[in-house]
Amino acid sequence: MNAQLSLLVQLQQFDLNIQQLDDQRHKIPARIDEARSALDQAISRLEDIKTALEKATTDRRSGEQDLDEQESHVQKLRTRLMELKTNKEYQAHLFEIDIANKKKDSLEERVLLAMERGEEKQKELEEVQGLVDDAIRSFTQEKTQLESKAIDLDRELEELKVQKEDVLKLLDKSVYARYTKLKSTLKVVVVAQVRSGACQGCQLQIPPQLIADVKRADQLLTCPYCFRILYGEDFPSSVPEFSTAQEAADV
Ligand SMILES: [Zn+2]
Repeated sequence: MNAQLSLLVQLQQFDLNIQQLDDQRHKIPARIDEARSALDQAISRLEDIKTALEKATTDRRSGEQDLDEQESHVQKLRTRLMELKTNKEYQAHLFEIDIANKKKDSLEERVLLAMERGEEKQKELEEVQGLVDDAIRSFTQEKTQLESKAIDLDRELEELKVQKEDVLKLLDKSVYARYTKLKSTLKVVVVAQVRSGACQGCQLQIPPQLIADVKRADQLLTCPYCFRILYGEDFPSSVPEFSTAQEAADV
């Protein structure tokens, strides 16, 4: 029975390791998505700047066109000035030219502002393009690392499962059935060590007679409180440790 208990402790260690690696493996796609989000942000900023640059260019072009039209309008008004006969007409026409010139000035201002905005956005575009390039580089690097970690984990999991199969081959079917049944209710740790007179599964003190029986290890004994299968303090095998006290108390 000692051998069966030893196999159970090994089986549990394999199950815990497999579960741990499996958790890590399952988190990798989310970690890749997370890494991609910085890149997505930089790209969306770049798109916004491109849109603003296009708008500045459109504004400048339409302003230039309006300005051309206004300039030829002013030119026509000046030509007509020569044809006017009376002083009154002449003064009225000068006033019209003055208003047309003011409109031309404000169109020039509009074109200048659009040009400045365009230059600003062009500069911003180059800066953010640099950030996007950096983000692409670091994302690609991180993605490659995570993908290769996934491959390593898959390989490691495969090896652990083969090793677990070897243990299962030696384990009595009835003992394995008992382990599986306990595992379905206890979830994490099924085989617990007795340490300083306490079951490490539930942390409760075990009756002295049971401690002595567990030490002899000639049969599979369970904790009277949490029903975990017990093994002694000096049991010669790798000992699974509880990762948290909560997990240990969580029966
Ligand atoms: Zn217990």
